[in-house]
Amino acid sequence: MIKDKVVVITGASSGIGEATARLLASQGARVVLGARREDKLKAIAETIRQAGGQAVYQELDVTKQSDNDAIVKLAKDSFGRVDVIFLNAGLMPNSPLSALRTDEWHRMVDVNVKGVLNGVAAVLPEFIAQKSGHVVATSSVAGLKAYPGGAVYGGTKWFVRAFMEMLRMESAMEGTHIRTATIYPAAINTELLETISDKASREQMQGTYDTYGISPDRIASVVAFAIDQPEDTTVNEFTIGPANQAW
Ligand code: NDP
Repeated sequence: MIKDKVVVITGASSGIGEATARLLASQGARVVLGARREDKLKAIAETIRQAGGQAVYQELDVTKQSDNDAIVKLAKDSFGRVDVIFLNAGLMPNSPLSALRTDEWHRMVDVNVKGVLNGVAAVLPEFIAQKSGHVVATSSVAGLKAYPGGAVYGGTKWFVRAFMEMLRMESAMEGTHIRTATIYPAAINTELLETISDKASREQMQGTYDTYGISPDRIASVVAFAIDQPEDTTVNEFTIGPANQAW
């Protein structure tokens, strides 16, 4: 059931997070939007409310534990509980390792890895106490297959895959009924390529996305499907991409 679920979404200001927020809200979820661009969140929340949905938002930098704790608190203060967290914030400044863009390597680790850890740390005490909860995370096909230029990005997404599987297993073993779903998108048309500063990598990726890219709505509908499953059922892993993209 999606209706009335309280869903925290990180990276909700554009792309996959925005599309998911809009879809879930249209299906009766109460959505809590986080990202750094507050103006974008405000506009998205307003249009959700105008359409009859329920949405609140707060500026969130996932690299800060205190921000993650604060958005979980906002969910509880606004709607009384948290049912789902969608750990979706991420960036993909791809480049060859030989370019030594070490700042970008570390930034990807901070956002794509530590951001996921911070979000889980913020919500886990609630989920353990209420013996229910759903953690959904955006990995990538880059977390399933390595490709040149994506060494660090792929590594961060590979981490998400391993981490989510352990969260699922440990929750099952501990009887806390925490469900997990990991999403592996291929080429989805969002703002993600704007995070690539290496010119050749950007052009190469842009060509792929121009040829194959599909709407983030496709990911949103899969996230909704996962959340909609009965409470005793985990549907765990989804690879979603353009039907004509060979990955
Ligand atoms: P977008 O760039 O459109 O969205 C990324 C979101 O992450 C934005 O809302 C951005 O908001 C947010 N974000 C970035 N840094 C931070 C931060 N430090 N704290 C909080 N929020 C942050 O791209 P997508 O929608 O494509 O990306 C969503 C996820 O999907 C990412 O994890 C990405 O790796 C993954 N993915 C995307 C694919 C694609 O083809 N598009 C393929 C596979 C995976 P703001 O700038 O306002 O903070």
